Amino acid sequence: MPGHVFGRSTKGTLPVAARGDGCYIIDSAGKRYLDGSGGAAVSCLGHSDAGVRAALHEQLDALAFAHTGFFTSEAAESLADRLVEHAPEGIGRVYLVSGGSEGVEAAIKLARQYFMEIGQPRRHRVIARRQSYHGNTLGALAAGGNEWRRAQFAPLLVETSHIAPCYEYRDRLEGETPEAYGRRAADELDAEIRRLGPETVMAFIAEPVVGATAGAVPAVPGYLRRIREICDRHGVLLILDEVMCGMGRTGHLFACEEDGVAPDMITIAKGLGAGYQPIGALLTSGKIYDAIAAGSGFFQHGHTYMGHPMAAAAAGAVLDAILGRSLLARVRAQGEKLDAALRAELGQHPHVGDIRGRGLFRGIELVEDRDSKAPFDPARKLHAKIKAMAFEAGLICYPMGGTIDGQRGDHILLAPPFIIEDAQIDELVGKLSGAIKGALAA
Ligand code: PLP
Repeated sequence: MPGHVFGRSTKGTLPVAARGDGCYIIDSAGKRYLDGSGGAAVSCLGHSDAGVRAALHEQLDALAFAHTGFFTSEAAESLADRLVEHAPEGIGRVYLVSGGSEGVEAAIKLARQYFMEIGQPRRHRVIARRQSYHGNTLGALAAGGNEWRRAQFAPLLVETSHIAPCYEYRDRLEGETPEAYGRRAADELDAEIRRLGPETVMAFIAEPVVGATAGAVPAVPGYLRRIREICDRHGVLLILDEVMCGMGRTGHLFACEEDGVAPDMITIAKGLGAGYQPIGALLTSGKIYDAIAAGSGFFQHGHTYMGHPMAAAAAGAVLDAILGRSLLARVRAQGEKLDAALRAELGQHPHVGDIRGRGLFRGIELVEDRDSKAPFDPARKLHAKIKAMAFEAGLICYPMGGTIDGQRGDHILLAPPFIIEDAQIDELVGKLSGAIKGALAA
């Protein structure tokens, strides 16, 4: 079925996704694919959730769209109320957009406008981490740490500082405790703020559990608390990007809960609409909102489809499912089982360097040599082969050749639906193991 849709790749044709059935996508030829990564950590309720479908029908029957220049909607208000109710301390307002990059753009612009309104106009710099992805629009791309994603667009991007990630597997020294390592890694932020001049820095942005660029790398205990202290010391806003790891993916509604940190802003997206609708959100502290309300009274930003009632209705039903069906506890339990199954099947494999993650957000890092942790030659395109072989076997997973401080390495991200059953965990691990072994032998 050759068509005129212009997608990611110009090579080859893709199967046509025709139907969804729980954790599976079925193509037009009838082949079933177990969704081991929720696409890209999106489909947290699987592909046929009755509650979300009913909420969408109901909203459609009532009203599909009303422009936010004129109206708010019950769906948007109720979603925002409940997000604020369950958010970390200090979060007071929700700005609804259509995806993750839009949420990050809004966060960066809101940070800038906040400092303009409170009379600190020299604050304009963003600091991020080398191992991070924050989206593909120009502001979000500038913040992200993927050099290869940024390279050809560099002249269009604002200059952003990138400090080291918190990457225990590679960067913790022998004999160093995780806590000491976390302090050392966080202190890079302090040094960078001082180097730039604290009066010029407006925000630090980071993913609490790094997703696309690294394969589910959580921060070590204490790292984010130290980051919070450093931001406070210098009057810098802390933005946590939970587009991938938020909305229950780690077993907590917000991943930063586990780190005991309350940021100034949080971005969420993928699991928010669970794939039923495109939606993202920027959650911001009441302090930032109040400053703008007391100042210009107008956030100089906006998109036609922001606060879309259909998207908000879907997200409200997703939140109902997560909270009402005790899915956070289920994510923690199934996450432990997935971790145990991965370790049993692959833990001793000579090319599996690390298995990590939280909840149903797990990563595997492949290395040429376990002792030296040397990555495979990127020219081998191991991650691409694993993706193709897994897909052939009927498994969707998310392998990437991420950046390890300039060096490329291969990892696989797993983020199955929260409803995954034990037998499906076995199917996932079995097919993944086959694909890894097949790709290594190819
Ligand atoms: N931030 C993070 C942490 C992400 O993982 C992503 C997407 O992968 C984005 C932002 C961008 O989201 P979107 O693709 O919805 O624009």
